[in-house]
Amino acid sequence: MIEVTGVLQKQAWDLQVMPPVELVRPGLWSIPVPIPNNPLRYVLVYAFELDNGVAIVDAGWNTDDAWNALNAGLVEAGGSISDVRSVLVTHIHPDHYGLAGRVRDESGAWIGLHPDDATMLRARYVDVDDLLSKMHDLLEFAGVPEATLPDLNMASMMIRDQVAMAEPDILFEDGKEVDVPGWDLRTVWTPGHSPGHVCFHSERHRLLLSGDHVLPRITPNIGVHTQQIPNPLGDFLESLLKVQNLPVDEVLPAHEYRFANLRDRLDEIILHHAERLADIERMLLENPGMTAWQMAVNLTWSRPWDQIQEFMQRAAVSETLAHIVLLEIHQRVRSVGDRPAHFFVVEGPVES
Ligand SMILES: [Zn+2]
Ligand SMILES: [Zn+2]
Repeated sequence: MIEVTGVLQKQAWDLQVMPPVELVRPGLWSIPVPIPNNPLRYVLVYAFELDNGVAIVDAGWNTDDAWNALNAGLVEAGGSISDVRSVLVTHIHPDHYGLAGRVRDESGAWIGLHPDDATMLRARYVDVDDLLSKMHDLLEFAGVPEATLPDLNMASMMIRDQVAMAEPDILFEDGKEVDVPGWDLRTVWTPGHSPGHVCFHSERHRLLLSGDHVLPRITPNIGVHTQQIPNPLGDFLESLLKVQNLPVDEVLPAHEYRFANLRDRLDEIILHHAERLADIERMLLENPGMTAWQMAVNLTWSRPWDQIQEFMQRAAVSETLAHIVLLEIHQRVRSVGDRPAHFFVVEGPVES
C-alpha cells in the first residue's frame, strides 16, 4: 500500500479544491497549477531554489489562469517568474509543456526536454495535416464507427491552442545529471506514457519526481498513437522496472498527491495491466473477431462509456490497442484485415 505523504494535497483532492503551495524540502516547493475542464484538476509544478534564481519542473497549461497560478505560487515561494533559470519538462503533454515557452519569454530560462518528445513538437502542434490523416487511418484500423470517427479525429485540435510551440534549448540524456546547481538531479528516461517521458531522481534527497509515469491513484494513459512508439505498453512496463530499485523515500508526482512506498505502487500498476490483458484475451475468446473499438466500449473504465468525452474515448481506444499490440507480440492474439482489424486469440499451446 502506498502511504500518502502529501496529506494536505489528499485532503484538498477529497474536498475537490486546489491544494496549497507547499514546502516539500528546504528549498523545494510544490505549486499546483490548474488545468481547465479536466478531471486531473491541476498539475504540480516543482520549484527548486538556486543561488541565482529557481529551476522548475513542468510548467502547466498555456492559459491565463494557469499562468497566474504559477506566478502567484512562485511569489509565495519567495521568488518570481523572472527568477526562473530553467524549465525541466517531463514530457510533451500540454499540462506539462504548455507554458514553458511563456516562462522562457519572461525570464530567459532554458527549456529542457527529451529528444524523443522534442522531435514530435512540430508535427503535433504546427503541421498537423499529416498527423490528422494518420490518426484517421488509425481510427479506421481500430474500427471506430463512421459516424463517430470525424469527432474523434479532431478531438485534440482544441487542446493544441493551449501549447505555445517552443523548441527546447537542452535535450535530456538518459542517466545524465541535469544542470540544476546545488541539487543532484539525474534524468531517468521512462518511455511509455510518451516516447520521451523522463523522471528526475535525487539520490541525495531520496526523491523521485515522477511526472505522469507513476501517479498514486490513476494509471497514466498508455496508448498506440500515430506519433507513439510501436509497443508503448511494453516500454511502459519496462520503464516501471527502471525506477523500481532507485533509492526513493518519497515520490513527487505531477498530479494528485505525494506518496511513499514506490514499489508497492509499481506492483499495483503492473497488476492493473496484467488484469486488463487478461480481460482482453477473455473477451476475444468469447467474441472472436472483435475490433479494438468494440473492445474499448466493453472494457471497464472509470465512468460509463457514453459519459466519456470524445478525447478520452480516443485515449481509451488507443490504450486498448496498446494492450492488443503487446498480446500480439506475445503471440496470444492475431489480427485479420486492417480497415478495421479484427482480433482473435491464438489457439493452441503458446510458448512464453
Ligand atoms: Zn501526460
Ligand atoms: Zn499530466
